[in-house]
Amino acid sequence: MSNSNEQLWRSLIMDVPDFPQPGILFRDVTPLLESGAGLRSAVDALSGAFTNIDVVAGIESRGFIFGAPVAYALGVGMVPVRKPGKLPRATASADYSLEYGTNTLQLHRDAVSPGQRVLIVDDVLATGGTAAATVALIEELGAEVAGVAVLIELNALNGRAKLGDVPLVSLISY
Ligand code: AMP
Repeated sequence: MSNSNEQLWRSLIMDVPDFPQPGILFRDVTPLLESGAGLRSAVDALSGAFTNIDVVAGIESRGFIFGAPVAYALGVGMVPVRKPGKLPRATASADYSLEYGTNTLQLHRDAVSPGQRVLIVDDVLATGGTAAATVALIEELGAEVAGVAVLIELNALNGRAKLGDVPLVSLISY
């Protein structure tokens, strides 16, 4: 990816101290979403990061915003990984811990199939708990995780280590 893209993305991500609770430095991607050049270049870079993808899994909720256009660009479908109680049919569930709190994620049991190569998309990789829970869900359903693509990686939290052998691409890191 070009240096100028990276500069653009960095300029469009706002740091918000103590949100949503004291001690968290929140990386706000809404200014990037508001920028046509920022959104397009980020989606292009995320969708160019991996090949041979059969389906994109977007993690609620900012992973939906980036995951859907990445799936469109790749010409594949997009499956939503959701918070509990949102998906109407039979689900698989995985618990995870967040940088701030704990939660559960769910995926429709028929959303991915054995043999499919799945690309997981989210905005931020922090502790990696969310992405690792999504990897567990996809693997429980018999599909293969081709990789995880995020806009932002927070190096100090070492989320990459939680993903083990799963390839991770981040567009920028702090
Ligand atoms: P984690 O499970 O710790 O990797 O957290 C990742 C999820 O929480 C992502 O879906 C992010 O949207 C959100 N998140 C965690 N930490 C931050 C942060 N510092 N700034 C923005 N979003 C964050």
